[in-house]
Amino acid sequence: MSYNANKNGRYGEFGGAYIPEILYANVEALKESYLSITGEASFRAERDALLRDYVGRPSPLYFAGRLSERYSTNIYLKREDLNHTGSHKINNTVGQILLAQRMGKTRIIAETGAGQHGVATATVCALKGMRCIVYMGETDIARQRPNVQKMQMLGAEVRPVTSGNKTLKDATNEAIRDWCCHPSDTHYIIGSTMGPHPYPDMVARFQSVISEEIKKQLAGQLGRDYPDYLIACVGGGSNAAGTFYHYLDDERVKLIGAEAAGLGTDTGQTAATIHLGRRGVIHGCHTFVMQTDDGQIVEPYSISAGLDYPGIGPLHAHLAVSGRAEYFAVTDSEALEAAMELTQLEGIIPALESAHALGALRHKAFRPADVVVLTVSGRGDKDMETLISWRAKHLPSPEPPTPGQGAGSARQPSPPKNFATLTNI
Ligand SMILES: *Cc1c(COP(=O)(O)O)cnc(C)c1O
Repeated sequence: MSYNANKNGRYGEFGGAYIPEILYANVEALKESYLSITGEASFRAERDALLRDYVGRPSPLYFAGRLSERYSTNIYLKREDLNHTGSHKINNTVGQILLAQRMGKTRIIAETGAGQHGVATATVCALKGMRCIVYMGETDIARQRPNVQKMQMLGAEVRPVTSGNKTLKDATNEAIRDWCCHPSDTHYIIGSTMGPHPYPDMVARFQSVISEEIKKQLAGQLGRDYPDYLIACVGGGSNAAGTFYHYLDDERVKLIGAEAAGLGTDTGQTAATIHLGRRGVIHGCHTFVMQTDDGQIVEPYSISAGLDYPGIGPLHAHLAVSGRAEYFAVTDSEALEAAMELTQLEGIIPALESAHALGALRHKAFRPADVVVLTVSGRGDKDMETLISWRAKHLPSPEPPTPGQGAGSARQPSPPKNFATLTNI
């Protein structure tokens, strides 16, 4: 059994290309050329050089000693948070901008949720001097302000989307609409392993540099090039696809995905598509979709804007149905606790999306000898407001001062007012 896409973009029963007629020529041209262009020596040379000198690859594989102790196993973190622009998204946008250039396109559009894909797209457009338009839901614009400002500074036009619940799904609808109006000069850079074929396969290949490096790094650090477990969070599924890619057919390696449960899978406030979705078509591919009995898309919810999506990449639908990978639904509060845990045990503040992968650690019992590789897909800078307000609500406030030892007492210098909370998680 193969877990990868066949030449029609089918992952088992999932995938395919369900598109409006007007986009047929575009998608067909992409499908006909993506493998040959990305296979050219000059393409590879330019991409490899950019990944190395611009993105900063290879990203480190870091043995997290204190986190390993906490879970009584061996945890290695694949540090995509250290990439230029702060997440794995840049691996894909670098590849797609080079492809767009070679296909003679001059205008780039993209959708974004957390803003990471928007920033990564605006970045490569600045690099190549291409016009860039990013569609983003108003809800996400409000909760991801720093990324909106970055995109604008990079020269991109951020177009607010006001339909639906104003998040990623709605932004994707608008981007597709735009592409229909400008099919000849525009390339649509999709940010995840979603959309019509060839996007899921193309994005997975661009992200597969993650598992290519994990192999080499494990061989160097452990003398064995595979782990017992791979763990990654799943929104559309691109960082997980990249993490799993070179191990898909290696059954010694167990694959774990973490999707966003939001407030809980039974609360109606959730984005746990694999747990709750049913077969359907969304944004050009056949996959699991969160939908009502008559096929209307159910609005998803997650604290993490990058996982707030009612679909899932067809690769992951296939891995779930075939039993090749196991998917856990991780709640907002589990993710936030896990983010705080990583911050205080390892000095790494993760993105809220990545925090869901960390939250999956408590769903599984690992043995002391196991080697667990977990991808930290992004850094937490964009989520600081959410992290800070959660911390203020959930952490114990500092001890009240002892009477007689107020400010000005020379006998016992007291620590700064809010110092005590820093060690509490
Ligand atoms: C966008 C994003 C995700 C989710 O997207 P995938 O395609 O599932 O990887 C996860 N983590 C971060 C940091 C992101 O920016």
